[in-house]
Amino acid sequence: MPLSLQGIGVSRGYAIGRTYLLQRNQPEITEYTIPDAIVEDEVQRFLNSLDLARKQLQDIRTRVPLSATSDATAFIDTHLLMLGDVSFTEAPINLIRSLKCNAEWALKIQQDSLVRVFEEMDDPYLRTRKDDVEHVARRVQRILTSEDPSYLNDAGYSELSSNRLEGRIIVADDLTPADTILMQHQGVLAFVTEYGGPLSHTAILARSLGIPAVVGARNARNYLGNNEPVIVDGRLGVILVELDERILRYYRHKQNEERRQQRELNKLKGKPAVTRDGVTVALQANIELPEDAAAVREVTADGVGLYRTEFLFMNRRDVPDEEEHLASYLHVLKVLDGSPVTIRTADLGADKQVDGGRGGPVCTNPALGLRAIRMCLKDLTMFRPQLRAILRASAHGPVRMMIPMLSAIQEVFQVMRLVAETKQELRGRGLAFDEKIPIGGMIEVPAAAVCASQFARYMDFLSIGTNDLIQYTLAIDRVDDEINYLYDPLHPAVLMLVRNTIRAGQRAGIPVSLCGEMAGDPRYTRLLLGLGLTQFSMHPTGVLEIKRAVQDCHVGELTQTVQRLLQTTDAAKYAELLKTIAQN
Ligand code: PEP
Ligand code: MG
Repeated sequence: MPLSLQGIGVSRGYAIGRTYLLQRNQPEITEYTIPDAIVEDEVQRFLNSLDLARKQLQDIRTRVPLSATSDATAFIDTHLLMLGDVSFTEAPINLIRSLKCNAEWALKIQQDSLVRVFEEMDDPYLRTRKDDVEHVARRVQRILTSEDPSYLNDAGYSELSSNRLEGRIIVADDLTPADTILMQHQGVLAFVTEYGGPLSHTAILARSLGIPAVVGARNARNYLGNNEPVIVDGRLGVILVELDERILRYYRHKQNEERRQQRELNKLKGKPAVTRDGVTVALQANIELPEDAAAVREVTADGVGLYRTEFLFMNRRDVPDEEEHLASYLHVLKVLDGSPVTIRTADLGADKQVDGGRGGPVCTNPALGLRAIRMCLKDLTMFRPQLRAILRASAHGPVRMMIPMLSAIQEVFQVMRLVAETKQELRGRGLAFDEKIPIGGMIEVPAAAVCASQFARYMDFLSIGTNDLIQYTLAIDRVDDEINYLYDPLHPAVLMLVRNTIRAGQRAGIPVSLCGEMAGDPRYTRLLLGLGLTQFSMHPTGVLEIKRAVQDCHVGELTQTVQRLLQTTDAAKYAELLKTIAQN
């Protein structure tokens, strides 16, 4: 009878293989005094280690597979940026000189103080940035202390790049983004980590690389032996050990089934998403970097329903200028070749912090603070170049402009005024743009969902951002691991707000789409169709699966069930009806 270890399934899929226990001891750091005469040599030794760490990360960056989404390179870029930051360069050098101590010790002092700063932050997302500090510092420490020449090459790894990892299931305390990429390159089958949650680096990267993963499997390395045969179920978040023939047969069957299904899904490329009763549904994709546009084409999505432009602002100290914005947008338009592209204006703040001090100090409730359109309207030097670039891009293809996190109708009026001014400015400069560029709003604050009909009057389209709508409606921070069990897309309050928004759009005769994670989760497709949704926007990898779900549905029947669902005040009946239309 197999035994199981429970963690959190963060990247779907099944793996059958032998474990590879990664027991990496942290380098032992001790302090020693450096004689005056060779203090500058010690500084140089430190600078050399930074150089090598940089080369190693640059090498790893080139190993990110082209099929991975932008998250993979973005993580490595963050680490590269940290390596160049004064807090990692000048501060330890000053310590070496003033304390006359060894480089490892100086770096450790600086690392501890940076970690303390991050740990004290209220924002849970920013708290996780301490992991980045530790990952970067550890790499440099390893270089400084390593006697293993294989670690001191430009690639900077021995164990992680050895072909011993091929076909193995990695079990580690935690993995850095660089580790994850390197090991994926060696053909590992799955990742299991003892720490981390659904938003941890390993989780995001594993999803991006398409490798099954379970995180938060506490003490996994105490329970699992090295080279032990296990099964990783990335869907349920379990690791099965002491396997018998019956369970192996079951999972081999599931693996084959999954491969077969993927082949079937590929056949849906280029086919329309039409329900059994003839309702055509638009399936669009969400992207974060211009490079993601290729994946949108690959799955033949109906254009981009959400282009998150925040990445343009990240990992830098200045603000992107008009030409930089424009170049990114034109790249996407070119790849999409005539399909619509919905560019969201910067949604910075809260879970999408930027460098360079924009957004001011971290406030008590960043999600309720100066973020998204609020920040843009306050900082026009940042907003205007983006508005100009979006308008200019509209001369080259079907562009729509989308405003995030609207809560008051006055924000719409302010945006409209700014757009009118910007158009005037462009006319003055003799630059072309689409005079009728559609401008839409994201409905992700309960106030906007309740008053959706007001917003629908003034906007050309609406898009429901359920990731935020759920967090604000249920008062649950979307990045707080402690309370994520309460994050419930099926809460009646959420569904009523979604329905109200869709109805407001129908009455005003404007399109309404949904671009939160719910759109790409096949468990909710029937429910959303029953609520009247006909436009979905999701991660490109979800498009074909949702298409298949749509083709199985009958909107007429689903509409009736959803109506009954939202009319009942009986919690038991609600749960029962929900079971017939959505699985959780
Ligand atoms: C949302 O909130 O649902 C959304 C799509 O926006 P983001 O996840 O970028 O906040
Ligand atoms: Mg949002």
